[in-house]
Amino acid sequence: MSMVKSSEIKIGLEVHCQLTNLMTKLFCSCSSDYRREDPNTYICPICMGVPGTLPVLNEKALEDATMVAIALNSDISERMLFFRKNYFYPDMPKNFQISQYDKAGGVPFSLGGYVQINKKKIRIRRIQIEEDPGKLIYEGTIESSAYTLVDYNRANIALIEIVTEPDIRSPKEARKFLEKLRSILEHLGVSDGSLEGSMRCDANVSLKGGRRVEIKNISSFKEVERALNFEITRQKKFMEGGLVIGQETRHWDEVRRITISLRSKEEEEDYRYFPEPDLVPIKISKEYLEDIKLRMPELPDDRTKRFMKQYNLLLQNAEILTRNKKIADFFEECLKLYKNPRELSNWLIGELLPYLHNKNKELEEIRFTPKHIVDLLKFIDDGTINRKMAKSILQEILSTRKMPYVIIKEKGLKKILDKKYVIKNVEKVIKDNPKAVEDSLVDEKAIHYLMGQLMILTKGKIDPKIADEILRKRLQLVKNRL
Ligand SMILES: [Zn+2]
Repeated sequence: MSMVKSSEIKIGLEVHCQLTNLMTKLFCSCSSDYRREDPNTYICPICMGVPGTLPVLNEKALEDATMVAIALNSDISERMLFFRKNYFYPDMPKNFQISQYDKAGGVPFSLGGYVQINKKKIRIRRIQIEEDPGKLIYEGTIESSAYTLVDYNRANIALIEIVTEPDIRSPKEARKFLEKLRSILEHLGVSDGSLEGSMRCDANVSLKGGRRVEIKNISSFKEVERALNFEITRQKKFMEGGLVIGQETRHWDEVRRITISLRSKEEEEDYRYFPEPDLVPIKISKEYLEDIKLRMPELPDDRTKRFMKQYNLLLQNAEILTRNKKIADFFEECLKLYKNPRELSNWLIGELLPYLHNKNKELEEIRFTPKHIVDLLKFIDDGTINRKMAKSILQEILSTRKMPYVIIKEKGLKKILDKKYVIKNVEKVIKDNPKAVEDSLVDEKAIHYLMGQLMILTKGKIDPKIADEILRKRLQLVKNRL
């Protein structure tokens, strides 16, 4: 493929994030913890849209959205309505979605804002609160499936939609934006991006000279870069072949890793938006905003600065760690057991993160604990193993979850470990028995006594020959000093 210059690419994202910290759905009291449940178990007349039922807004969802808007520097509307977005689709039992709208007297939840990536600001166009539709399940792919199953457990789950301006210039930058956004949402505690389907994305992309193509249903942040790369290559090839890229909507097929045309749309679809008559308008007071501002947790950019100051990290390393809240938390957990932050950060960034990236895994999926890495680093610090050995041991820890000392023993490094253990205990015996040490210089029996103490202290788990040798050497040192 011929390279496409970044100045010729325009990408905008529409990100849907579930508010996974809520106990219930957006407008009813059904549980939102649906992931391990059988299909269609968490449903009620409200989320199924039975006529005559009344939705009630989940107050916590409003609080979450407010925190998100503040964190993204977006201006929150003082007064707003919910709107009905009407369309007929099997995943939408009511035939309308309760959302927000910026026309017909409506305002979105918030307007404007930005996310900072390195030195660049990706502008936010708007943020709104809406309900998730149900989930359509296909047998195989969307094209080949003979039927579609519908699971309404997800219908009416609280979502926030975050729409960017077309400021993104490459698939890689799109990934960086999404990583940063996810880290912000996780630091706020409103959304856990590791839950399946909790963060989904539509992307629109256009190349210079072509129209805007929208890619729908990218089910995870990881897929976005892939989908955009495919789509940019496809559009470029078409244009080089003299074809015209018209406005259309395409579907990202994760299995085949291609985009497929769903429909070409020359005009915006008419969703017949109108204000939702069953919900009261929302007013956001200054006091409400101030109260939430006071309760805002530490955000990734502030955490980066703190890491630099408190742990003396370089900007680049601090940023890499705070890019993922779980990694940043893990780093700080380790520091409760280990006092060299720079060394630790080098190992996490140089070894752990590449491992997770290559395996396409999240930290919590691999059951790697602070003790795993801290024990390993302590073995380097006390000279038991060198860095090169430690690197290969770490790879083994990551794939087997064994503790470092187990691997060190298995690798035949046990003798070194034993010797260190004996030396440590000999020192203690000598310190605790000054009289016997003094006697030992003239009396062999005192040496036997000290040996006995050493065996008691180590519960007899040491090799007597090695122990005897080390003890006598140590006593010789005492003698030499006299
Ligand atoms: Zn319900």
